[in-house]
Amino acid sequence: VSAPGEFEIIARYFTRRNDRADVLLGVGDDAAVLECPGQRKLVVAMDTIVEGVHFPKDTDAADIGYRALAVNLSDLAAMGAEPAWMTLSLSLPGSDSTWLQGFASGLFELADRHGVALVGGDTVRGPLVVTVQIAGLVEPDAWLTRAGAKPGDLVFVSGVPGEAAAGLELIQRNAVQGDAARHLRQRFLRPEPRVGLGRELRSVASAAMDVSDGLLVDLRKLCAASGCGMQLNVDALPQSAPMLQLMPAAECIEHALAGGDDYEIIFTVPASRAQRVRDLRSAPCTQIGAIVAGDAVLCSRGGAPFEPRRRGYDHFEQGPGSP
Ligand code: ADP
Ligand code: MG
Repeated sequence: VSAPGEFEIIARYFTRRNDRADVLLGVGDDAAVLECPGQRKLVVAMDTIVEGVHFPKDTDAADIGYRALAVNLSDLAAMGAEPAWMTLSLSLPGSDSTWLQGFASGLFELADRHGVALVGGDTVRGPLVVTVQIAGLVEPDAWLTRAGAKPGDLVFVSGVPGEAAAGLELIQRNAVQGDAARHLRQRFLRPEPRVGLGRELRSVASAAMDVSDGLLVDLRKLCAASGCGMQLNVDALPQSAPMLQLMPAAECIEHALAGGDDYEIIFTVPASRAQRVRDLRSAPCTQIGAIVAGDAVLCSRGGAPFEPRRRGYDHFEQGPGSP
């Protein structure tokens, strides 16, 4: 197959049959026209992934396509919104039909699973950079924010934080043989955006956010937005059997607290609604702490204060050298 030009790239790989009735005009014109329902609110987010920054060079094209959408779906999940439409900005070093085929297959695999239509975009030559803008809908006054946590609320996380960071480390060390390593690698390459959980949390959580930069860093952001502090119980962190099989327990804890790329949801729940967390059906959730007054996120382990080993984020204002 000869290298397709810009027009062929769009026509061949990114123009599909429209299966959403609310897409009045999709790919192919100067802009998309979308039908917005009367009551629900529009929720919009955008995330860019850059080769060598957000994923290693030589990552499979299908995994890049999947990931570009997954990180965006995760943001809508954290808002409690239902994803509907996306636009795609693609900067490519060259026109390679095998790569484009793979990329499109990963992107649309996830898009189809969540009923998301690609309604437009832009295609340019440049370094490999993929930007997806996602738009979705949420019921009036039902969206989740980072700002609603109050002292006494319980803090939960979905899934098993740290596995994605462990997976990235294994990929970088080229040590991805065996079931445990393959599981962790997939957790990095194919994060499962918690869209269903976000929808369920609309009537349960007081605050929510997705974990992209690392559990502690992101918990601090949630606390800052809510004007409160947190007590985090390190012993309560979900254990990862594959991680424990491949690395020392201390390293597992480090990954769980400081590793990024999990795309799990952290959320807070008033104690009066704590029972309802057990009824959540979309994802396993674990209580890892409680909201307290103040502005510090403090960790404890075995009942004693615990200082995470890895520093290196400016965000760690409790770190050595800070007042
Ligand atoms: P214009 O020059 O008017 O911006 P383009 O030639 O860039 O239009 O794009 C033509 C059509 O293809 C538009 O509908 C645009 O949204 C769509 N498009 C371009 N690149 C992509 C892409 N990577 N994915 C989806 N749609 C795209
Ligand atoms: Mg135009």
